[in-house]
Amino acid sequence: MRYSPFLSCRQAARLISAELDRDLTPLERAGLRLHLHICAACPRVVAQFASLRRSVQGWRDGVEETVEP
Ligand SMILES: [Zn+2]
Repeated sequence: MRYSPFLSCRQAARLISAELDRDLTPLERAGLRLHLHICAACPRVVAQFASLRRSVQGWRDGVEETVEP
């Protein structure tokens, strides 16, 4: 089966969620970035997750240091 670089919104959402818990592989990251480029809806999901992550990081503040890539 040929790997398609084009993700469905469902796959993209799964990766967006997974990114909170682990580092994506370069292939996953590239596919997600491509999807966000061509999709109108998913960037909003990313924004929601980003604000969620910020609040979680604020909650964790002082517990562990976060290193931005
Ligand atoms: Zn999408």
